[in-house]
Amino acid sequence: MPVTSVSCADLMNSSLHVNVMHDDSVPKDDDVTIKVLFCGICHTDLHIIKNDWGNALYPIVPGHEIVGVVTDVGSGVNNFKAGDTVGVGYFLDSCRTCYSCGKGYENYCPTLVLTSNGVDGHGATTQGGFSDVLVVNKDYVLHVPDTLPLPGAAPLLCAGVTVYSPMVQYGLNAPGKHLGVVGLGGLGHVAVKFAKAFGMTVTVISTSERKREEALDRLGADAFLVSNDPDQMKAAAGTMDGIIDTVSAGHPIVPLLDLLKPMGQMVVVGAPSKPMELPAFAIIAGGKRLAGNGTGSVADCQAMLDFAGKHGITADVEVVKMDYVNTAIERLERNDVRYRFVIDVAGSHLQGHAA
Ligand SMILES: [Zn+2]
Ligand SMILES: [Zn+2]
Repeated sequence: MPVTSVSCADLMNSSLHVNVMHDDSVPKDDDVTIKVLFCGICHTDLHIIKNDWGNALYPIVPGHEIVGVVTDVGSGVNNFKAGDTVGVGYFLDSCRTCYSCGKGYENYCPTLVLTSNGVDGHGATTQGGFSDVLVVNKDYVLHVPDTLPLPGAAPLLCAGVTVYSPMVQYGLNAPGKHLGVVGLGGLGHVAVKFAKAFGMTVTVISTSERKREEALDRLGADAFLVSNDPDQMKAAAGTMDGIIDTVSAGHPIVPLLDLLKPMGQMVVVGAPSKPMELPAFAIIAGGKRLAGNGTGSVADCQAMLDFAGKHGITADVEVVKMDYVNTAIERLERNDVRYRFVIDVAGSHLQGHAA
């Protein structure tokens, strides 16, 4: 039957077509080929490896806090050249046509292509920065300022932009404003650094006294507040213009909202697995605002890197070789790192060859 033969031909053509498109060994005109130098280990990597969110596409190559050097560019690439120091963050493509992409918030594109454990436009699973080489479209590659030490720059590509972006979006980057940073981990310690560079007054909010010296003496926060101490919390009520909540363990948010001035803005960037409790009057009284934030746009990420370069901001990292990665993941799971593991990917490769 003619219909059957047409269907077969279409199927063959389309499968041939898909096979050609899957051949990633042939970069396209708009592609940038990157030799990976360093890659941070983010909590998201841990969740995906363990399939905590039920979306793992095994076998997984984790890593989305990537810095590297350009080794080759396609004929259509004019914003990067071989030898440039570059970064790749949480995503490496998006649809470019939806509302979010049109507004420049491609991080909220419904078909965002994640750098690791994502699905690209051809149905292939993306493989992240725990690898020697990445090939990425030129529109999703970032320039990393030459002034930044690369291991400490890597976590900026996810942790850095995740706190920088909402600070800029919600005006929590104005000198003299008072920002509360909840939790002093991978995200929180970078938030303190950005806020101080913006000229803000910064209070670190933590469950215990344990990190007081670290926050005040080493990171330069102006005040430290123990959230389990009702007297301290009461004394600080109504004093903050904004709060960035980075804690991913479940915790009550009403006491944090009490710290805001009227019309104050709280931004949630940590992701506890249990739903938050939010009585309506916690935000109705004082007209307070609560928002979430997921990573940042390409433009925000570039602005963040430029700002970090100008002010010398990097994450505090422990650099490890690839053969330590399983131990690093176990330690990350117990929060035994100050504040981010970064894999010396290129150095691990050389070591492997020498051995
Ligand atoms: Zn991340
Ligand atoms: Zn889109």
